[in-house]
This record gives sequence, C-alpha cells and structure tokens, in this order.
Amino acid sequence: MAGPEPLIFEISGRGKSGVKLPEPDVPCQPLEELLPPDALRDELPLLPEVTEPEAVRHFVRLSALNYHVDKGLYPLGSCTMKYNPKVNEALARLPGFESLHPFQPERTVQGALQLMAELGAYLCEIAGLAGVSLQPAAGAHGELTGLMMIRAYHEHRGRPRKYVLVPDSAHGTNPASVTISGYEAVQVRSNEHGRVDLDDLRRKANEETAALMLTNPNTLGIFEVEVEEIRRILDSVGALFYMDGANLNALLGVVRPGDFGVDVLHFNLHKTFSTPHGGGGPGAGPVGVSERLVPFLPKPIVRKAEDGYHFDWHRPQSVGRVLAFWGHFLVMVRAYTYIRMLGPEGLRQIAETAVLNANYLLSRLRGAFDVPYSERPMHEFVLSGDRQKQKGVKTLDMAKRLLDLGFHAPTIYFPLIVHEALMVEPTETESKRTLDEFAEAMLQVAREAEEDPDRLRSAPQSTPVGRLDEARASRELNVRYEWGRAG
Ligand SMILES: *Cc1c(COP(=O)(O)O)cnc(C)c1O
Repeated sequence: MAGPEPLIFEISGRGKSGVKLPEPDVPCQPLEELLPPDALRDELPLLPEVTEPEAVRHFVRLSALNYHVDKGLYPLGSCTMKYNPKVNEALARLPGFESLHPFQPERTVQGALQLMAELGAYLCEIAGLAGVSLQPAAGAHGELTGLMMIRAYHEHRGRPRKYVLVPDSAHGTNPASVTISGYEAVQVRSNEHGRVDLDDLRRKANEETAALMLTNPNTLGIFEVEVEEIRRILDSVGALFYMDGANLNALLGVVRPGDFGVDVLHFNLHKTFSTPHGGGGPGAGPVGVSERLVPFLPKPIVRKAEDGYHFDWHRPQSVGRVLAFWGHFLVMVRAYTYIRMLGPEGLRQIAETAVLNANYLLSRLRGAFDVPYSERPMHEFVLSGDRQKQKGVKTLDMAKRLLDLGFHAPTIYFPLIVHEALMVEPTETESKRTLDEFAEAMLQVAREAEEDPDRLRSAPQSTPVGRLDEARASRELNVRYEWGRAG
C-alpha cells in the first residue's frame, strides 16, 4: 500500500546498517561448533536494514502523522486523555526501576517494594478503602478481579449468587466482566435525570443479586447523588457495591467512595494517574476493597515488617494471582511520582479544574447542540447530534470534520442511551485558550452542518487516510506484512 509513509521494510536495503561494530578482539568459536545443527537457521531473518538517519526519520515522521496528547487536545470522553508530565517518564526510566528483574530476591528490591506499599496506601486513602491489589493490568481486568472477590465473599458465606446489576449507562467492559466472571448481567434503567432509576433498582435487587456495578460519576458525567439510598437497597438484600472508578478524575480529594459504602473500586492508573495510554501500551487497574473483602484480595500483597518489605503469600482466602509477576511496575512508578508531586491539595485541584473545564466548555456549546440531560455534569458531558442529524449530518461526519480542524474527536455513539452521542472530556490539563479553540471548532462544525453539509460528509480531507471501514478492519484484521509482496 502506498501510504503517506512507507513501512520500514520498504525502505530496507540489504547491507545497510545504522551501526558499525568493531571486529571482536577475543577468539570467537564458530556458531556451528557452539550450537547443534538443527538449532541453526538456514536463512538470515527478514529484518529491516536501514541507516541510522533513515530509522530516526521514519519514526519521527510516524509520530507526527499520529495524533497524540503532546500534539493537541484529546477530548475523548470516558478516557481521561490528560497531559502526562514528563517527569513521570524520567523517574520510570531510572535504571534502578527500569532494569529490575521480577525474580530478584526481595532484599535487593526494597525500594521498589516500598514504592508499591506506599502507592497502595495512597490509593486506599484517596478512595477511603481498606486494602488494594496493584496486580490487575487494566481497568477491565480490575473489574474481573473485583468480581472474583465478590464471588469468593458470597461463596464463603454459603452461596455465590447469580446476578450482577449494571445500569444501562455503564461502560461496555462492565457487563463483559460480569459475563466472564460467570455471573449474569441484569440491566438497570436510568431515569430522566440520567441517574440510576431507584424503583427499577428496587425491583431488580434480590437475594440472588451478588452486586451492583455503578460508575460514578456515570458515563453521562453526572454524579449519582443517591448513593446512600443505593447502598441501603443493596444492604437490604446482602449485595455488594462495586464502583467503576475510571472517572475518579472528577472526585480526587473531594469524595472518597469508601465513605459512601463502596466495597470494591478499580482505579485506572493510566487515566487518572497519568500514564500515556490509547496506543495499546501497558496500563494498570489496581483494585481497592472495603474491610470485609480484604481477605480475598489477590496475592501476594506487599507488607512492611520489622526487617523490611516482603511479599505476603500467606493469604488462605485470596482469589489467587491475577497476573504474571507483580503487576505493571513502571506504571506504578508513574502514578507514585504523580501523586507525590501533586500532594493532597494538588489532587483536589485536578478534580476541581476537570469539573470547571467541562462545565465551561458545555456552557460555550449549549446553544449549538442538543443537551439531552439538564443536570450539571462533573468532568465530562454528553451532547446529542440529533438536531444536525435532521439536516442529514451524522455525528460521525462532525467527528471527522473536527480532525480537519486539528482536533481529536470526542467519543461518539457512547453512551448508548443518547442518540447521536458526542461525549466530551476536556480534562484539567487544558488551558482556557485551548478550550476556547476547541469550542470555536465545534461551533464551526455546527454552523457547517447547516450551511455546508457536504463538507462534513466528505471529511476528513487533511488526514493521512480518509474514512476507514472500521467494521471490516476489526472483523478481517490483517496486520501481516509479506516480504516482497507489493500492493
Ligand atoms: C476506560 C474505562 C473502563 C475500562 O478500562 P480499561 O483500562 O480500558 O480496561 C471501564 N469503565 C469506564 C467507565 C472506563 O472509562
């Protein structure tokens, strides 16, 4: 495919090299004498061969073609695409962290264990919970781990139960985790204010209910103010309270979910605590629990003893291990750095600014788009493109046009309960100037929907590729490059 940048294989040429190694000055035994014949290759591996400037320019050009948070605002709702301070990267690259081996004896990694123990304690304090496991690899994995603990808790009391309640505004990972954990998801309706419908919750909660999974603020960006009544309803049937903590950016230093009765909460370190994400790199989804679930946490847990830090494996009721080794350690280093740099006041400021930014942006866009729920949102808000749809312009067209105007698009068609949804999360790291530029772009798109709809329907024009067949790309995924086969 002739793209805007060839594959590195296509600029490769036999014998090109970026380094010139000196001749060895020690005697070398031929490979044939070192290895048995069946372990030797017949042909050289097909690796790209390029000069150093070719390699550097190739990757710099790729990074410039891509859109990323170092390039501009990334208002992708539900994803908290905040700017990630570079100091996190500097600390994660310290050789003492970066070069650790997971099999090193405990006494040689005391600093790393201390960091894990302290990060766990900070997360407990931030969420108002009693214990935490840093193992899960991402948010959805934290959800699964939480549900495994919920199952273990109910089993310990006699019966695992059957159902987990999930509001219709939930992130798709919630019902998916419920199914994978062996429970059956039961949907709870939202009311006209965009909150959980308590009557529907009362109808559906019973002695077979293992838990409710609530996102708060929910995916409409609206805070579920009736959490105490929700807690009472769950208590009345002996069900546990899971909170999806992916939206913790709105609550830091202001609200502690443990204080309103949450039993399990997963954190998305890569969202709230600033690890770059979105490109498929590692994240982390630590999961925190209330006192009654502490015995079921995955093992091992890092503990401090008289003689230093240790992995505590003696946890007979633990659900076991949920990831190889100890979790994504360098993501923990970034989160730890971030929390230590900000301190309690700084964390609170994140939440306050994230909420202020979202509300400011909404106030600028309110007149140009339909706003399906009138409640004041927290850190993100959802618009509807219904008005523009009537003019023949879909939300997808508007999102594509925003790319031409130099912005990443908001999340679209989610949450599912809003027609033609546009979900905007500006985050706290954006200045008023950037927010205004984005508002102007959104207002321009709304104007063009009226005056020049074809322009939107044919967008994007300025990106390396136009509209892709996303459905086909995921159903017939083909990422294999066949050497020498052009086209
Ligand atoms: C991002 C997100 C998740 C899933 O987290 P991953 O780290 O992507 O697995 C779950 N719930 C909500 C509300 C989210 O925004």
